[in-house]
Amino acid sequence: MKTLTDKIFDLICRTSCEIPADIQSALKKACLKEAKNSPARQQIEIILRNIGIASGKTQPLCQDTGAITFYASCPRNYDKPSFRKAAESAIIRATEKGYLRKNSVCPISGRNDGTNVGPGSPMIYWDEKVSKKLNVKLLLKGGGSENVGMQYSLPDDNLDAGRDIDGVRRCVLDAVFRAQGKGCPPGIISVCIGGDRASGYAESKKQFLRKIGERNNYPVIAELEKKLLAEINSLGIGAMGLGGKITALEVFISVLNRVPASYFVTVSQMCWACRRGELKM
Ligand code: SF4
Repeated sequence: MKTLTDKIFDLICRTSCEIPADIQSALKKACLKEAKNSPARQQIEIILRNIGIASGKTQPLCQDTGAITFYASCPRNYDKPSFRKAAESAIIRATEKGYLRKNSVCPISGRNDGTNVGPGSPMIYWDEKVSKKLNVKLLLKGGGSENVGMQYSLPDDNLDAGRDIDGVRRCVLDAVFRAQGKGCPPGIISVCIGGDRASGYAESKKQFLRKIGERNNYPVIAELEKKLLAEINSLGIGAMGLGGKITALEVFISVLNRVPASYFVTVSQMCWACRRGELKM
């Protein structure tokens, strides 16, 4: 019988080495949209070859392990400290076996103890809703794409962005334009409208768990997702910033209530290596 640690270890290996089917299919479609022999097409072809090799050899998709983040829901009275222990043991084992690069570093001393476990690693978010069984989603969030995340406080005079949908739109386009291909596109742009500074980033990053094509239930926001995807892809930034038609595979937007004094728009970016996996028990 596999222990919880074994199952989380398997989840980590799968997530690190295999790209989800919907992301892979979006990349294939993006490749076909680019002109033959263009730098953009060549880049996406290399990405797709890399995906095939990683999956075939069970090797990590990218050298950057990324931030190890679990999103879990569980039955009432579930033993959450034991889950953390199991997750930490699984991460240490996956790191020893090379499925995760030794990536977790103390920002003060620069020390890397080679385990990927420490303050803030892994991050575990528990859903407030009680579920009948344990359900765990894992996101490995690359640092390059994390670096180009932006948070705006509206109104923003520089962008001529007010506290409305058009103001949100201007922020998202500004974030992608300023990134100029840093963060390894084509990937996913994820946005939280509202919340505070901390919840804005947490909520926008949680949207990376959504599958390509999943629209927000709120029609105005669903329309904005589609409109922004088209506008981002008209910027010409392209794969790895080398120019091209496809800069983003998808745009996801979520909304949180705000206080009257604040109107934050938080934009998170995910690279092509959108590594997410799921464990149901
Ligand atoms: S941003 Fe993504 S693809 Fe680029 S190096 Fe980091 S994890 Fe890899």
